[in-house]
Amino acid sequence: MRLESGRAIKMRRLHKFAVACLALTLSGSAAAQFDFLNKAIDAAKSKMGPAGNLLDKAKPVIDSMGIDESKEIEIGNTFAASLLGAKPLLNDPALHRYINTLGRWLAMQTERPDLPWAFGVLDDDGFNAFATPGGNIFVTKGLLARMRSESELAGVLSHEIAHVIRKHYLNAIQTNALAGGTADLIAENVKKGPAEFRSYFAGLFKDVYSKGLDKGDEYEADRIGVVIAARAGFDPYGLPGVLQTLQSQNPRDGGFTLLFETHPTPTDRLDSLSKAMNGRFDSSNGSVGKSFSERSKEFSR
Ligand SMILES: [Zn+2]
Repeated sequence: MRLESGRAIKMRRLHKFAVACLALTLSGSAAAQFDFLNKAIDAAKSKMGPAGNLLDKAKPVIDSMGIDESKEIEIGNTFAASLLGAKPLLNDPALHRYINTLGRWLAMQTERPDLPWAFGVLDDDGFNAFATPGGNIFVTKGLLARMRSESELAGVLSHEIAHVIRKHYLNAIQTNALAGGTADLIAENVKKGPAEFRSYFAGLFKDVYSKGLDKGDEYEADRIGVVIAARAGFDPYGLPGVLQTLQSQNPRDGGFTLLFETHPTPTDRLDSLSKAMNGRFDSSNGSVGKSFSERSKEFSR
C-alpha cells in the first residue's frame, strides 16, 4: 500500500471540493486557484502553534453516558425539528445550496467530516446562529444581511461547527442534568425507546439554549473557529471582524438580545481571541471570499 503524504491528501481534498461545487475559488486558472488554497492552508497551519492542536485534543465526555454518534445525531435532529417548528427556514433554495456548500467545506477541515452536516437559514431578522449536536447549523437572515465578507460568514459557521465537534451542547445537557440530580434519569432515558428519548432530550435542550453555554466553551469555539476557517483557505480575521461588528451594537436592540444574553461580551471574546491568535495569523494570505451577489449568481444556475 502506498502511503499518501499529508500534502497529497490535502490536495485531493481540495480537488474534490473544487470539482464538486466550483466554489470558494478566486478568478484565474484552476491550477492557480488550487495553489492559492493550498498555500493559504499551509501558511495558516504553520502559524497556528498551540491553537492548531486544539482540533486534535477532544475527548468526548459524553461517551461515559452511553450516547454514541447515532444517538447524538438523533438528539440533534429532534432539537432541530422543534427549532424549525418555531422559526421556519427561508424559502431560498439557491441560498441553501450555497450555505451548505460553504458549511460542508468548512466541516471537512475538522476531525468529524462525516457527520451529516446540514446548514439552514432561518427566516428571522434577528442576529443569531445556533448548532445542534450531530451537525445541524442555523444562521438567521438578519445575520447574513450583516456579513461584510464571505470570510466573516465562514468565521461564524466555523464557530458553530466547533460547538458540534467539541460536543459542547451535549456536555452542557449532562452538566445541567447532573446539577439537577438526575444522572440516573439520563441513563434511564438513554436506554428508552426513541419517542421517550426524544422528548426527554428536547426538554433538556430548551433549557441549555435559553441559558447559553459556559463562557469557556464560547471562547474555545472562537479559537477553533478561526483555525477551521483558516484551514479552509479563508482570512482568519473573518470571525474577529464579526465580533467587532457586534461590539458596536446596542445589546438592548431586540435583534441582538438573545445573542448578548447567551454569549460573553464581544469585547471579552475579542480579548480572548487576540491572546490566542497572538499575531500568528498576521501574514496569512487567506481569502476574504466572494461577494454574496456573485455567490447568488453562481448558485442560482
Ligand atoms: Zn457559540
